[in-house]
Amino acid sequence: MKTPNLINYSDAYSKFDWQREQKNLDGLPNGGGLNIAHEAVDRHVLAGKGESLALRLIRKDLSREDFSYGKLKNLTSQFAHVLKNLELGEGERVFSLLGRVPELYIAALGSLKFKAVFCPLFSVFGPEPIFQRLSKGDAKVLITNSQFFEKKVKGLLDRLPTLKYILLTDSEEDLSDQVRSLPNLMRLSPADFEIQPTQPEDPALLHFTSGTTGMPKGALHVHQAVLTHYLTGKYVLDFSPGDVFWCTADPGWVTGTSYGIIAPLVNGVTTIVDEEEFDALRWYQILEKEKVTVWYTAPTAIRRLMRMDFIPKEKFDLSHLRLVLSVGEPLHAEAVIWGEKAFGVPILDNWWQTETGGIMIANYRSLPVKPGSMGKPLPGVVAAVAEIEGNEFRILDQIGNQGHLVLKKGFPSLFRGYLHEEERYQKCFRGDWYITGDLAKIDQDGYFWFIGRADDIIKTSGHMVGPFEVESTLMKHSSVAEAAVIGKPEPSIGELVKAFVVLKEGFDPNEEMRLELIGFARKTMGPAVAPKEIEFVTSLPKTKSGKILRRLLKARELGLPEGDLSTLEKD
Ligand code: ATP
Ligand code: MG
Repeated sequence: MKTPNLINYSDAYSKFDWQREQKNLDGLPNGGGLNIAHEAVDRHVLAGKGESLALRLIRKDLSREDFSYGKLKNLTSQFAHVLKNLELGEGERVFSLLGRVPELYIAALGSLKFKAVFCPLFSVFGPEPIFQRLSKGDAKVLITNSQFFEKKVKGLLDRLPTLKYILLTDSEEDLSDQVRSLPNLMRLSPADFEIQPTQPEDPALLHFTSGTTGMPKGALHVHQAVLTHYLTGKYVLDFSPGDVFWCTADPGWVTGTSYGIIAPLVNGVTTIVDEEEFDALRWYQILEKEKVTVWYTAPTAIRRLMRMDFIPKEKFDLSHLRLVLSVGEPLHAEAVIWGEKAFGVPILDNWWQTETGGIMIANYRSLPVKPGSMGKPLPGVVAAVAEIEGNEFRILDQIGNQGHLVLKKGFPSLFRGYLHEEERYQKCFRGDWYITGDLAKIDQDGYFWFIGRADDIIKTSGHMVGPFEVESTLMKHSSVAEAAVIGKPEPSIGELVKAFVVLKEGFDPNEEMRLELIGFARKTMGPAVAPKEIEFVTSLPKTKSGKILRRLLKARELGLPEGDLSTLEKD
């Protein structure tokens, strides 16, 4: 397949050598290869940094529980021994169903040490989503606590014949041969574990997608992905010695694993974990008290922070914050600029997916920030836009075009499969290109701009409209806190643009306001693509990772089945 000139990439981009980058990591002794847990934990201890603070857990009462790299090495080794003593096989799957407690992090890294495949689930899942994932993932071991076990798992056991062991983090006694006490097993295990040679393609992690567009898919990742975690940590998160990093995501979402655990630890900095859920004042307290230098969060949280009626840096000492980043959904230009006022630094948007395992496109430090854009592809990542019509696939010239966002295979963290969905996986590829399912455009400076998910694009009166563009326009109005836009079938024009709007406090959702917003959008965007219908709502349905569920709004609007709602965040 002929590839047009990728004019916005210097030679350094296309010749970027991932293999050579491996030299920056240590590898297992005696040429045993890259193992994520070794790179994240053990290598720092071997280099004499065992005393450094690796992970600090903030408990509900804001007290701390600290884990040095040395302590983490011992605990994760013990956990790896637990799996070995249970006679688990390499590549078999270990799941967790836990809040953000130390055992979750120990189990994740310990499983990687043992070379099991680790899969963290959101602790707020109910029994059915848990069942779906455990059975689809052929879970052999589940780490959970007594309460979750009793309430959510016990009733499923008959339907989970392959689940061999359930390890309870808070029980001092075994309940049966199958349901065991993790503390007891840990006590019986030595704190030294020899990691077996690890091949680049050895499976490491299973992560379910957010379920924004449908039933969540199980994306499989391999140990080699650690190179992406390491490099994006270095270039995008700009880690340097002494950094205190806080990623607010739960490991149930890939961000909470790739960036809540792996990337900061591989880079030897301190990672903060907050046991609690979102709470604006608490978050500012943590940023202040822990002297967080690099902060990674999501647009949904930023929009909530923007609604508060004070300027954070005037109320809290946020002077140590050097970098704030966002991922998960498009970040509106207003939010990027608000960051400057709120924290003294802009909020840097970056784009990636469960499937890509790590950040691919970013406003990174060495580039001028373009508010509203996703930034540029990382060194070593070749991104482009393509036209896809049935079996036709054509990469478009780079500048000024819009199309399907595609990535060239070859970066280490690209997923290696959708679990038990081979056909769906194959459909994501055309030759060397991976089709992300998103639409984007590239500007004259080579920056990528998000248009929408291919599934969400609205066709109205011969125009293609991305919901993001309409939502961004509405959010420019001083009354709008959040907006979600869908296409509603309408025979004369194809689809009608409909917006669901959450107003800021103090604004009335009345007819006058509705007309005002429609007029504002028509003036700003032009009448053809502006919303024709606006409905005021008090909140928007979101996934647990904070993404607006447009498909649910649409299904409800059209009276269609609501589809899989396992990741729907309950209010
Ligand atoms: P599913 O694949 O199950 O529908 P999902 O795509 O939301 O769910 P994730 O892998 O968590 O699951 O999310 C990746 C998607 O999130 C991207 O494909 C993109 O649509 C969106 N996204 C992530 N970061 C950004 C960003 N910075 N700007 C715009 N969109 C983003
Ligand atoms: Mg997706």
